Amino acid sequence: MTDEYDDINDVLVRLPGKDCGLCGYRTCRAFARVVMLDPEAIGKCPYAIDEDE
Ligand code: SF4
Repeated sequence: MTDEYDDINDVLVRLPGKDCGLCGYRTCRAFARVVMLDPEAIGKCPYAIDEDE
């Protein structure tokens, strides 16, 4: 499933803000920028909230 994001906040609401680094990025915000370009990358965050199903 692929979403598109126009606003980084639309990604951030799906991330818990733990800044744990498990996704490979130091912060959720850094990861959110990647997800805006590659929505399926959100699967790399084990804590991401799936709002769309
Ligand atoms: S794995 Fe998820 S919670 Fe951890 S830093 Fe990445 S986006 Fe944030």
